[in-house]
Parts: sequence; structure tokens; C-alpha cells
Amino acid sequence: MDLTIPTADLEWKERAKAFAETHLFPHEVALELNGHLPPETLASLRQAVIDAGLNGINHSREDGGQGLSLLQQTLVNEELGKATGGLWAVVWHPAIPLRYGTAEQKRDYLTPSCAGRRRGAYAITEPGAGSDPRLVSTRADRRGGKYYLSGEKWFVTTGDYADYLIVHAHVDGDPEKPTLFLVDKDLPGVRVQRIPKFMHTYVFGHPEFVFENVELAPSKVLGQIGQGFELTKDWFVEARLQIAANCLGAAIRAAEVANAHAEGRVQFGRPIRDFQAIEFMLADMAVEIMAMKSLVYRIAAEIDRGLDRKLVHARASAAKLYASEASGRVIDKALQILGGRGYMRESPVERLYRDIRVDRIWEGTSEIQRAIIGGQIKKRGLSAYTGWA
Ligand SMILES: Cc1cc2nc3c(=O)[nH]c(=O)nc-3n(C[C@H](O)[C@H](O)[C@H](O)COP(=O)(O)OP(=O)(O)OC[C@H]3O[C@@H](n4cnc5c(N)ncnc54)[C@H](O)[C@@H]3O)c2cc1C
Repeated sequence: MDLTIPTADLEWKERAKAFAETHLFPHEVALELNGHLPPETLASLRQAVIDAGLNGINHSREDGGQGLSLLQQTLVNEELGKATGGLWAVVWHPAIPLRYGTAEQKRDYLTPSCAGRRRGAYAITEPGAGSDPRLVSTRADRRGGKYYLSGEKWFVTTGDYADYLIVHAHVDGDPEKPTLFLVDKDLPGVRVQRIPKFMHTYVFGHPEFVFENVELAPSKVLGQIGQGFELTKDWFVEARLQIAANCLGAAIRAAEVANAHAEGRVQFGRPIRDFQAIEFMLADMAVEIMAMKSLVYRIAAEIDRGLDRKLVHARASAAKLYASEASGRVIDKALQILGGRGYMRESPVERLYRDIRVDRIWEGTSEIQRAIIGGQIKKRGLSAYTGWA
């Protein structure tokens, strides 16, 4: 079994590391203190993403992306995930379902999104529909050859910065017809209701949107009528693997900060790493990171080798569940090793501690991942997770 990571893949990791250290880390404290970055900074970051060739890494070259393998994307996302304040999000990943768009949709949405000229946001969640998207009440009613979209979407990450939304709605209010719509934000009837504050500091907002009878041409249906869940599932797989990779990077950064601190900080006449309590925490952190990395890289490599699509979904849940929970444990220990300094907002560990909490909630809570994994065990047997195929 050859576990060597090819040099070309490692070069992508190095490129992302240099990008994060040069372009993201320097903005972390200002973002934390001010709660946002000025538009000119965001514009220069956008250009820096393009200059570094990190735009659209998740799409094919044909569609204007960089055509990275999933393992390469994972290596990139690990490095970007070290940045606090959700700054990794300035490196855009146009939603995967866009690859199933028509030639016209690709021309109008996917290609310009890969190039950084447009930006989308994905809107599924509603006040009454969270973990169970079948409860979505946003509807697209067919009248006279058009669709009329009405409803409310919450927590639309990057919805403030985006210029279009991918909206999950039920055609004619029929839950059997979940469908994705491409909705330009400047259309009459699209309104931002509120941009709430959250526990983390995040470079963009998570606004609430209201749609009032928004007129949409049939060409704005992404995929087929009724295909909304299936396409969203693809989005979940990608988003869950990205979260897992980001969490891995976050845990590594926190562990490195804590390890260096344990070496230099002297109390009771010796470096605190010489106390077994601290040494054991570092040992647990290292092992958790090792397990996380093994899992996340393995699943990415398996998918690149053509893993069965159903297993892809099953395994992405395992990666997201484990990495989001393990990174929380690692960062909690890192903060403890730093003592009071770890509780200061100027410490990346304090920021990571808050940043990482949402990873157990968004793109499916830990409970939902466990429900998926439990269901897969029932259907395919334990070996779907404990075996090696
Ligand atoms: C910062 C942030 C950004 C987000 N960005 C987006 C976005 O861009 N687009 C988008 O569409 N959504 C987004 N979300 C929404 C996110 O995906 C949901 O919050 C998440 O899916 C959970 O839904 P909910 O909050 O309604 O919780 P609920 O579904 O109400 O769940 C509440 C609790 O019940 C538990 N629970 C629910 N069902 C079960 C079950 N079957 N078994 C066991 N426990 C269960 C949950 O695990 C949770 O602990 C975002 C959320 C946040 C906080």
C-alpha cells in the first residue's frame, strides 16, 4: 500500500500554505476587531486568489476551474482552514451542482463564478426547515410559462457578498418536486431581511432572505424539476469534505501554537511541557490529528479512485463528523495549554475555538451525520466503515 502523496499534490498544499500565510493571516486580527474587512481589502484578496491560481479549484478546466483532484482540494482546504474568521471563504468554490447546468447556465453562472466575476450562495434552510429539508415551504408556482418564487431562507452564508443564490424550493408547493433555482439577487422581490450576528467572526454574513413573488424564467431551473435533493446531496458531499479538511487545518494550527507555548513557557522552574498533564494533552492532540488526517485523506483519495457514489455520501459524513468533533477537542486542549493567553481574542486559538463550533452544526449537524452513518450500517453492514474497500 503506497501512502506517498505525489509531489504535484504537495505543491498545491504548499501554494495554499503560502497563500494563507501571506494573504489571510495578516487580516485576521483586523477582521476580529472590526467584524468585517473593507471592500478594497476583499477586492485585493479576490485578485490574490486569481494570481495564486486558487479560483474554482473544485471545477473542471473546461468549466473555467482548476480541475484539482479531491485529494488536491483537501490539501488546499487543510491549509486554508488554518486561517481564522472564516477567511478561507475568500477562496471561492462555486457550488458543485452548477456543473450539471445547461450550456447557458454554465456560461452565465459557473464560468464567471470560477473566474471570480460572480459569486453564489446556497439557500436551503428556513425558519421551519433545518435538519429536515422536506419541510421547506419556499415554493415556485408555475403560471403562464414562468415560475414565481415565494418564501424565506435563513443562514445564507456569503449571501451578502454573493450576486446570485441557488435556492431550494418546492415546485407548486409539492414536496415531491424539490428543485434548485438560480436567483439573481437584484431581481424584484428579492430582499435581505436581516444579517444576524453569530458566535464566530466570519468574513462574510449569513443573511436571511425573503422572496416575494420573484419571477423566474424556466431557464433558471438548475437540473430537473424534482432533482433538488439529489443535486443538493452532491453539494453536501463536497461541503462536508471541505469542512473536514478545514477542521484538520484548524486543529493543526492550534496544536502548533500550543506546542510552541509549552516549550517556552516556564512555571515552577521548568517548561510547562515537562508537566505530564500538559504532555499528555499534547499527545492526545497529536493522535487525534493523525487519525483525522488519515481519515480525511483516505476518503478524498478513495473518491478520486472512483468510489461508488452511495459510499461517497456515507464516507463524507464520517469525515465531517469525526473531523468537526475531534478538532473541537484538540482546540479546547490547545486553549487550556495557553492558559489566559488562549482566552484572548488576539490568540488564533481563541478564534479557532469559536470558529470551529459551527462545524458540528452546518451542512448537517453531528446528529444528522450519525443518523446517516447509522442508516448506512443498517443497510450495508458495519464493514461500510470498519472494512477496507
Ligand atoms: C453560521 C451558519 C451558517 C449556515 N449557512 C447555511 C447556508 O449557507 N445555507 C443553508 O441552507 N443553511 C445554512 N446553515 C443552516 C444549517 O445547515 C442548519 O442550521 C443545520 O442544518 C441545522 O438546522 P437547524 O439549525 O434548523 O436545527 P434543527 O434541525 O432544528 O435541529 C436542532 C437540534 O435537533 C437535532 N436533530 C434534528 N433532527 C434530528 C434527528 N433526526 N435525530 C437527532 N437529532 C436531530 C439537531 O442535531 C440539533 O441538535 C447555516 C447555519 C449556521 C449556524
